[in-house]
Amino acid sequence: MLDTLIHKASIPHYNHLMDVGVQNGSITYLSKAEERLPHAKQIMDADGRVLLPGLIEPHIHLDKAYLLDQMNEDATTLDEAIQLTGDLKKGFTKDDIKQRSIKVLEKCISYGVTNIRCHVEVDPIVGLKGMEVLLELKQQYRDRIDLQLVTFPQEGIFQQKGTAELLEESLIMGADVVGGIPYNDPNPIGHLDLVFDLAHRFDKALDFHVDFSDNPKQLAIKDIVSRTLTYGLEGRVAVGHLTSLGSVPQEEAKQIAKDIAKAGIHVMTLPATDLFLNGRSDKERVRRGVTPVKLLLEEGANVIVGTNNIQNPFTPFGTGDPLDVALLLAHVAQMGTLKDSETLLDMTTIHAAKALGIQSHGIALNNQADLVLFDTKNTRNVLLERPKRLAIWKKGIQVNKTALGV
Ligand SMILES: [Zn+2]
Repeated sequence: MLDTLIHKASIPHYNHLMDVGVQNGSITYLSKAEERLPHAKQIMDADGRVLLPGLIEPHIHLDKAYLLDQMNEDATTLDEAIQLTGDLKKGFTKDDIKQRSIKVLEKCISYGVTNIRCHVEVDPIVGLKGMEVLLELKQQYRDRIDLQLVTFPQEGIFQQKGTAELLEESLIMGADVVGGIPYNDPNPIGHLDLVFDLAHRFDKALDFHVDFSDNPKQLAIKDIVSRTLTYGLEGRVAVGHLTSLGSVPQEEAKQIAKDIAKAGIHVMTLPATDLFLNGRSDKERVRRGVTPVKLLLEEGANVIVGTNNIQNPFTPFGTGDPLDVALLLAHVAQMGTLKDSETLLDMTTIHAAKALGIQSHGIALNNQADLVLFDTKNTRNVLLERPKRLAIWKKGIQVNKTALGV
């Protein structure tokens, strides 16, 4: 007998209403909705409402979220944001990091997020405090949300002595992914070599902050593409920002986009931060400063969208609802068609799962039952209205309090 049957759900990519059955945390029944229902302990009548796989937040910083109250000044450039946050970080305690992280996690769960990839800063300023807290929270929250932790050298590796050793230690402690940020290091090539070597030795995926500017000459992505191929890491490398590519002449940009797709590198556009910090040196014809999303999609790259920061010097905005940034991207990348709205929902669900190496995500037989039911019968409205999440399931267990009639 099924644990739960969701009756008459509207699911993207299906052209009729579906019945979805869940047992022992997995989707074990998937069929066109019929009047004759399979046996289930609980039946939830969706009555044509939209059911999506759990939303995925692929790029977020929990350890430096909600810093506005601690800031005496505001940042207007990337360098200022790094400096200001670096100063605040000196005062971070484990409890402080924990409370701010929990605030984000609770909000994300309430929005229907079932998986998060989070960058955790590891450097001589904060040490391994952030990693210790996030590893604890990963365990504490494992029934409600899956956390992937990226060990992240925000301050650079060579300009902060001791960082390389801390990165290695964090991987031994249990970090899931190796992070990198070549633009904030005096030796960007050495930086790339070091993190690729770490990923190779620990058999981990890589996730970079890369080419975050409007400078068409800043193209570490080319070095990342070549190393991805050399190390045979196709499909296991992701890059965030990649905004410089938007200022590169079209033919060259197109070739780079092709190379990214061929190397299986996943691109995470972070429009809230990129719009806030880029384009500021342009006094006329101000550039948008965002990732060239359409070009990358046209060339076959897996492009997804992330929140990045919530209310801190890098981005003094943000709610933790992945649909908010997806809608922002729809405006910025001029993705307004019905087909675009479907692509944007796939970005926040199944395409993000692919980027994070999460197997068995999505509404299909034998996949994990991470699901969200929205209070709308129109799939396009999920993006346009960001409606109430009526029911959220993690591994088949409902994690939010509100429920639709049984
Ligand atoms: Zn980031």
